[in-house]
Amino acid sequence: MIVSLKNIYFSYGRVQALGGVDLDLSEGATGLLGPNGAGKSTLLRILLGFLAPQRGEGRVLDYDIRLEQHHIRRYVGYMPEDDCLIPGMDAVTFTAYFGELSGMPRQEAMKRAHDVLFYVGLGESRYRLLETYSAGMKQRLKLAQAIVHDPRLLFLDEPTSNLDPQGRREILELIKDISSRKDIQVLICSHILSDIESVCSHVVILNKGRVAAQGQISELKQLKFRLYEVRIKGEAEGFVERLKNIGCRVDVAEDKVLKVYMPAERDISDFFRQALEANIQVRHFVRSQTSLEELFAQAVGVD
Ligand code: ADP
Repeated sequence: MIVSLKNIYFSYGRVQALGGVDLDLSEGATGLLGPNGAGKSTLLRILLGFLAPQRGEGRVLDYDIRLEQHHIRRYVGYMPEDDCLIPGMDAVTFTAYFGELSGMPRQEAMKRAHDVLFYVGLGESRYRLLETYSAGMKQRLKLAQAIVHDPRLLFLDEPTSNLDPQGRREILELIKDISSRKDIQVLICSHILSDIESVCSHVVILNKGRVAAQGQISELKQLKFRLYEVRIKGEAEGFVERLKNIGCRVDVAEDKVLKVYMPAERDISDFFRQALEANIQVRHFVRSQTSLEELFAQAVGVD
């Protein structure tokens, strides 16, 4: 197991940020999803060894998160959400500096800095001062400094923030390429569901300091309910009430168009019985794929 956390609690004074998190990550790319304030950054800081949990225990790459943080930092790469760039430096110096901070000898760090800058597409601009970089170049540079020391585990915090669609696609391609290597595990923290879906096989959904759901995206999508898109003729309100009474969650997408989340134990005939009794004509009824967005809404209880 690459990351394994058990019953982790962390509070900032009176504010509880994590309230009993269990987390197991194995091979591949994992997405860490959750609304603002869910505890994602706090969890990352604990995994990086920057914060020690007040309760609970855990291991990252087989090192204890409380006692062996210095080892963890050697093998972990981190791309923060905020800019961490140093004005007046060029990209090679900056990237090599981060290599040295992770324990690489200077010459080796310098050599690797050139390599990773070419890899992320900044080869031509590697001697330019960082303050002249565009938003997209800054993101690439942050990615370069995170991988310069060849980490086994890579944490990316909102890697596509501030990017236009083209920049976003490019950075996601890079992340995909990195995470396709056998020897590296990637954890991507994001609130952009489509980004997670395009890169990750697994997802952990955090809400209010706890894990609301975790697992393989393809399996989670099929869990618990089936989604139907329904167009009706008749009075929607009473019908929606009836469906809720038999355990469905219903979103009214537009007038007379409903998204009905049917619990696994219910049958389609239950739906049609309710329609009949509510004097509703069903004009259109199709089974939909649940997207991660809907799964996310369900897991965190947001309507
Ligand atoms: P996320 O990254 O999912 O937005 P955070 O881990 O930043 O969540 O925050 C979790 C909770 O902890 C929130 O209620 C937040 O307000 C609180 N929090 C985060 N950092 C601090 C801090 N330095 N001091 C006090 N409270 C904090």
